Amino acid sequence: MKQETPPASITPSAHGFSPGFAALGLEARLLATLDQLGYEEPTPIQREAIPPLLAGKDVLGQAATGTGKTAAFALPLLQRLAHGVKAQPAALILVPTRELAMQVGTALERYAKELRTRVLTLYGGQAMGPQFQALKRGVDVVVATPGRALDHIRRQSLKLEQVQVIVLDEADEMLDMGFAEDLDAILEQTPATKQTALFSATMPPRIKSIAHRHLKHPVEITIAKEPVKAGTAPRVQQTAYVVTRPYRHAALSRILDMAGPKSALVFCRTRVEVDEVTAMLNGRGHRAEAIHGGMSQPQRDRVMQAFRTGQTELLVATDVAARGLDIPSVSHVINFDLPSSAEVYVHRIGRTGRAGREGTAITILDPREERLLRSIEHVTKAKVTVAPVPSVADLLAKRLDRTREAVQEAMQAEDIDGFRGVVEAIAASSDPITIAAAAMKLIFRAQGGEREEQDIPAVPIRRPDPYRTMPRTGGRPGDRDRGTPPRRGNRTPQGKPGRGGRTAGMARVYIGSGWSSGITPNDLVGAIANEARINSKVLGDIEVLDRFSLVEVPEAMASKIIDVLGRTRIKGQKVVARLFRE
Ligand code: AMP
Repeated sequence: MKQETPPASITPSAHGFSPGFAALGLEARLLATLDQLGYEEPTPIQREAIPPLLAGKDVLGQAATGTGKTAAFALPLLQRLAHGVKAQPAALILVPTRELAMQVGTALERYAKELRTRVLTLYGGQAMGPQFQALKRGVDVVVATPGRALDHIRRQSLKLEQVQVIVLDEADEMLDMGFAEDLDAILEQTPATKQTALFSATMPPRIKSIAHRHLKHPVEITIAKEPVKAGTAPRVQQTAYVVTRPYRHAALSRILDMAGPKSALVFCRTRVEVDEVTAMLNGRGHRAEAIHGGMSQPQRDRVMQAFRTGQTELLVATDVAARGLDIPSVSHVINFDLPSSAEVYVHRIGRTGRAGREGTAITILDPREERLLRSIEHVTKAKVTVAPVPSVADLLAKRLDRTREAVQEAMQAEDIDGFRGVVEAIAASSDPITIAAAAMKLIFRAQGGEREEQDIPAVPIRRPDPYRTMPRTGGRPGDRDRGTPPRRGNRTPQGKPGRGGRTAGMARVYIGSGWSSGITPNDLVGAIANEARINSKVLGDIEVLDRFSLVEVPEAMASKIIDVLGRTRIKGQKVVARLFRE
């Protein structure tokens, strides 16, 4: 058997931190934070973007959500700002939506933990009062949506004269949402000496034009790679299940229950996540063990031995830890997180389907990461089937199937004569089918068949156009202020009929205004996404009719959306919102 040695990249460097991050020039306090977060190595966009950003250069980066782009701009920004606190904000990060603002704000606070940088997140829908006070007290970094940033600039509560770094995140979405003029107005207020970074998933001419006007000799970074040569990517059946964040753990457990893998590798991005996922799986009746760079060699050897002999069926690993291991081919590779690049994806799924055996790769996909999945498909030239998470009913049917199989096997193979007497004795007073049903129930229970299951809301799946930026019916979002004639929505997630039929896990919200009041599908998307702090991608079919509109939303979010819409104005009008029942 081959001796296992940890790969060089997870051998801690002299100060004990990831040598990968240290080599990029990040300072010890940030390295300590990354270590606590369980990041083992930089992602490709981080490797490319961090050194020029630390050097003060402008950067134009093409990267989708899920590639680690937030840390790519946040870490150098924090390091550069850490020297010298100012009364006014020294950095401004502009993002398209309220949801992303919160996400980026939280990420910055997490990365800034050891530096004590003051981060403030500003978006529409929040009361202005506390924002004024926070700005008055003084902040170092502001994360904001363009509308709200401009609002504060005009009221002189946000001053940009001291800004050293400005980041435009998801710039293509900001343009799609009609923020082009706002961006220009904001950038005009910043000093000419500032450093600018622009990140965008796509690079259409409009983005190039903004970059041309506002960036100085930018370092251009693209991490999309050439497609691999035909035949070099592993031939593995690939499926992705789209799940929103709160349901990821439940979805992973459900998918493993359904697949019943003999041996599976479950990949996570960080050490912390590996530990959490392992604990969760064991808590739900699976046999899982963790393996990551934070473990000692004897620990790793013991885990590998248990996996090879089949004592453990699930090995939960980071990419770095798995890279150094001589792991036998597994029946399933599960991506609990989509990896940050296509290369890592190919490497992961190559662990299954070796030597002509059948392999299955399953990805749990955040709705925001669909674009990254598409780019992986493009690079690997392989099709990934996107499917809804199996329902509770599907799982129960599967479990019942397993009970039936177990009984049928026992009927064939095992010596059951010793039990005949008992059955005959009960059969003297009861019907044999009832006896068999009761016995089946006990086996079903013993196999964990009665374990409680949580409903996992279905997320609408959109295909096949990979590069539309806000997949919505009824015109592009940017059209909304340009008097485009309204059109009817007709998007049909999962191929189901838009009208009449309903997607599993989705509810329909009735809104008492339609064309006749000038409402367009984009108004509804904007209102829901911005006011209810909901990612617009989770919304389903939208229909705007003459006097009312219907929007399909995840069931779990329906009451929140209705509540928020009831308090919001759309196109300046108050609207009635309630649950729609056929
Ligand atoms: P982003 O593309 O910025 O939305 O990041 C996607 C996810 O990757 C976030 O959950 C980050 O916490 C995580 N992440 C970013 N960089 C790394 C890294 N170097 N190692 C592990 N996880 C990371």
